[in-house]
Amino acid sequence: MSKKGRVFSGARPTGRQHLGNYLGAIQNYVALQDEYECVYCIVDIHALTTVEDTLNLRQNTYEMALDWLAAGIRPEESIVFVQSHVPQVMELHTLLSMVTPLGKLTDLPTFKEKVRQQPDNVNYGLVGYPVLMTADIVLYKTDVVPVGIDQAPHIEFAREIVRSFNYRYGTKVLVEPQMKNTKILKVLGIDGKEKMGKSLNNHIELAATPEETGKRVMQMVTDPQRLRRNDPGNPDVCNVFSMHKIFSTAEEVEMINADCRTAALGCVDCKKRLAANMNKSLAPFRAKRTELDANPQYVKDVLDDGAKRARAIAEQTMAEVREAIQLP
Ligand code: SF4
Repeated sequence: MSKKGRVFSGARPTGRQHLGNYLGAIQNYVALQDEYECVYCIVDIHALTTVEDTLNLRQNTYEMALDWLAAGIRPEESIVFVQSHVPQVMELHTLLSMVTPLGKLTDLPTFKEKVRQQPDNVNYGLVGYPVLMTADIVLYKTDVVPVGIDQAPHIEFAREIVRSFNYRYGTKVLVEPQMKNTKILKVLGIDGKEKMGKSLNNHIELAATPEETGKRVMQMVTDPQRLRRNDPGNPDVCNVFSMHKIFSTAEEVEMINADCRTAALGCVDCKKRLAANMNKSLAPFRAKRTELDANPQYVKDVLDDGAKRARAIAEQTMAEVREAIQLP
């Protein structure tokens, strides 16, 4: 392997992706391909722990894969697939669950948070979520998992499960994944308060039309102290300005920074510029997406091929795992 090792990352099938998804994860996925052999998984089984209505699951999976491909994930190099297409992950999940103390799972802050969020649907899947996540990672002999600071405890827990398994069966068959600390950009939604997300309807879709993008940008909350056009503004507390830093040139950012503070620039004009720069920057992505979407069979073929390649690695790992346990 000429690359540095294998990376695994998974994301739930949330359908059309938004700017928060792109800036927080997808652009990292694309960049990692230059250094690592990448395995990117759409984790549909994980989604079932919280999603009861599966009517849109297939379409959401398709839309998400489409966005990943249009954004620059290269399926000829990277393995892109759907979690449930590799049933070996369910088998490994069961086997790993035998070395995972139940008390540790129910003590995890993420589990407690889910219990608070959905008290009427505290299902077994929620308890076993970290075990399935560990199975996802180790099934593909992953060397490295890209994580933000808040996800580090999950990977540490996965490493513990791996150590318990290897110790219990006197083997080294499972690889402890390393963490690759990645600066995950936290993108605020158009409300300027919460993290961008579909559930809060504060997002801007990557695949939105330029008109839709313009409309959403116009809805963005600005400096709350700037009540009138002639009031000077403070870009440091304005999410529109944060977005300019991503989508506008350095000169433009400098100019907005100065002109906002003297009220030489109004918020409407500032937003119009942002929408124009966003649309310009997203134009190649949108053109590619439209082209790929004209041939849905291509996306299906990518996912089928990814699953085939993923299953080949998974089956090899499972043969070693079964042997280590000495399953009859
Ligand atoms: Fe924000 Fe721009 Fe208005 Fe200043 S001019 S408060 S940066 S939207």
